[in-house]
Amino acid sequence: MCKSVGEATMKTKVVFSEKCLNYGTWHVEGPQRVKLAHEILQERGYKFLKPTPADEDDLLRVHDGDYLWNLKKGLVEDSDTPAFDNIYEFARLSAGGALLAAKVGGFSLMRPPGHHAGVFGAALGVATRGFCYVNNVAVAVKALGKPTLILDVDGHHGNGTQEIFQGDPKVVYVSLHRYPHYPGTGIRSEGNCLNFPLPADTGEARYLEALDKALGIVKDVGGFSVVAVSAGFDTYEGDLASLGLPEHCYWEIGRRIAGLGKPTFFVLEGGYMGEKVGEGVDQLLRGYEGL
Ligand SMILES: [Zn+2]
Repeated sequence: MCKSVGEATMKTKVVFSEKCLNYGTWHVEGPQRVKLAHEILQERGYKFLKPTPADEDDLLRVHDGDYLWNLKKGLVEDSDTPAFDNIYEFARLSAGGALLAAKVGGFSLMRPPGHHAGVFGAALGVATRGFCYVNNVAVAVKALGKPTLILDVDGHHGNGTQEIFQGDPKVVYVSLHRYPHYPGTGIRSEGNCLNFPLPADTGEARYLEALDKALGIVKDVGGFSVVAVSAGFDTYEGDLASLGLPEHCYWEIGRRIAGLGKPTFFVLEGGYMGEKVGEGVDQLLRGYEGL
């Protein structure tokens, strides 16, 4: 077990509220994944900030008003994404986590995740919202209003994020994800959305090769002043969208993000093995800070 005493303090602050643990205990996107991750990061000396809920105006920059109204009333449900009691409030707080992370250059360790949620809920013709209610990273990017690179390293394609930003001149969206796999989108690049579909047995070397290729393209295009990372850890070997990545690979990903040389913030997406989520966040941020 790592000790915090004597270790270099991480500069990147983690945004977290225990309130996000209070729903969905029976679901695969359950509280345990974030609870364990929080405990691990606490042991390792990370500093934490508490978010406040996003305002409805923040959500309306991304989502349709009727969708939000139905979400608030508990009327939107699909086979992956239940209408848990007060889920609208949990979603607002998670979006608030992304807003705070964007403000301080931090890592939002909140749930529910967001990248499958599109303008009207389920996105790009996909039948479900994949455990997502409000697109947290999109709320933060819209609030900043700056030219942004959204780098989505979750193992699933962020169909919601693509739908929201497709054709947006201020945003470049880059996603590396398993294919064929849920949600089935992101097979090819479209305009400002650069997609890198990868097979289940990709492994670290081929993954980093694809990431280097992707980042090479965006560096050439340039023009972005902020990097927003949809940080999912379900690419870890054996997780829901496994690409066979070991823990160390998240350090390498963090290193490459730092190499972009822009103000950066991180928003948790998937990752369903709690201890591995904690390890993954620690590795990613150590790589990012060069520790
Ligand atoms: Zn995922």
